[in-house]
Amino acid sequence: MNAEPLALYVHWPFCVSKCPYCDFNSHVRSSIDQRAWLEALLADLSHEARLLPGRRLTSLFFGGGTPSLMEPSSVAAIIDAAVTHWRPADDIEITLEANPNSVEAARFEELAAAGVNRVSLGLQSFDDRSLAFLGRAHSAREGFEALETAQKHFRRVSFDLIYALPGDTEDSWSATLAQALSLGAKHMSLYQLTIEQGTRFAAMHAAGKLEPLDTEVAATLYELTDAMTSAAGLPSYEISNYARAGQESRHNLNYWRYGDYSGIGPGAHGRRLSRRTVRHRKPENFLSGLTRNGHGIAEEAPLSPHEASDEALVMGLRLREGIDANAIAERFQLRQIVDWDRVDRLVATGHLDRQGTRIALTARGRLLLDHLLGEIALAAEPRALAVG
Ligand code: SF4
Repeated sequence: MNAEPLALYVHWPFCVSKCPYCDFNSHVRSSIDQRAWLEALLADLSHEARLLPGRRLTSLFFGGGTPSLMEPSSVAAIIDAAVTHWRPADDIEITLEANPNSVEAARFEELAAAGVNRVSLGLQSFDDRSLAFLGRAHSAREGFEALETAQKHFRRVSFDLIYALPGDTEDSWSATLAQALSLGAKHMSLYQLTIEQGTRFAAMHAAGKLEPLDTEVAATLYELTDAMTSAAGLPSYEISNYARAGQESRHNLNYWRYGDYSGIGPGAHGRRLSRRTVRHRKPENFLSGLTRNGHGIAEEAPLSPHEASDEALVMGLRLREGIDANAIAERFQLRQIVDWDRVDRLVATGHLDRQGTRIALTARGRLLLDHLLGEIALAAEPRALAVG
C-alpha cells in the first residue's frame, strides 16, 4: 500500500453565462441532467481510485465552471465517495469555488453540511461598472452579501479579485485593495486581467475595441499589491495568492510543490504515478468517453524525468518559498536542472534569491517569471549519462 498524500480535483464544466475574459473549460447549457453528471463523476472517480489504492487524501477541490451550481447532494455524494475510496487526512481541506449571487449563496449552508470547509468566492470587483465590463452575473452588493453569508457558514473563505483593468490607476486599485483587506478574509487571489486567446476580449482586442492597461502601470500595481498585502499580514505566497500564515490553499500548494493529484470531470488535468492525464474537454465528449471506456480520460502519457523536472521548476518558482534545485534533480534522477551561472547572474541583477541550492524569485523577478524560466532551465541529461 502506498500511503503517500493525494489531492483530488473535480471539474464542474457549466456556467450560467460565459465571461468575456475566461479561457477556462466552461460551457453554457440550457439544461443539465444533475443525476447523470453525478453518476459520471462518480464513475470517473472510481477509475482513479482503482489505480491509487491506499492513498491518503489531503485535499479535494471543486473547480469549474461554476461548481456552486451543483446540487449540494451531489457534492456530498462525491465527498463521501472520495473519503471512502481513500483515507482522508484528519485536516482534509475541501474547497468549492462559488459565484457570489443570491441563488448560490442560498446553498452555502447545505454545502457546509455536505463537508465543504473552504469556499473560494469569485467576487472579481467591488464596482458595478467593472463587474459589467467583466461580464459578471452579479452586482457589487450581491458580492458583499455572499461574502457575509459564506463567512457565516465556512471557517475558511477566500475571494478573488481581478485588477489592472483598462483605466485602473494606483489610486483606484489601492482604494479597492484597502477595502478588500478590511473584509476579514485570510486568503485572497488577486489576478491581473490578461487577454487570453479564444476569448471575447481577445476578439475585441484584435478589433481595436479593447486596449489593455499599459504593462508599466500593471507592474506598478503588482508591486503596490505586494506592499499593501504584506503590510496587512497577508503576504503573497504565490504569484497571485496572498494569505495569513497557515491559511494558504493546501490543495494549490500541492500542485506548486509538485505533489500527485487526480483530476476528474471534463477537461481536468491530473498527474499521478509519473503519468499525466487529461480528460475530454467538451461535456458531451466526456460523457460518451465515459460510457465507452469507464473513465473520461482523453490522453494519458508517462512524464519523462526531463518533462517532470521542468514542470516542477515552473510550478515551484511560482511560490515565494521557491525550489531546491538539487532536490528536484535528485527526485528525477538528473544531474542538474538549472544553469547555475545564469542563476547567479540573475541574483546579481536582483531577479532571483539564492540560498545554497534553493532559488526563489524576488518581487522584481516575479513579474518576469516566464522569461526567467527560459533563462535558467537546463536541457537536463539523465544522471546515468552524465556520470557514465
Ligand atoms: S464564471 Fe468563472 S468559469 Fe464561468 S465563465 Fe465566468 S470566469 Fe469562466
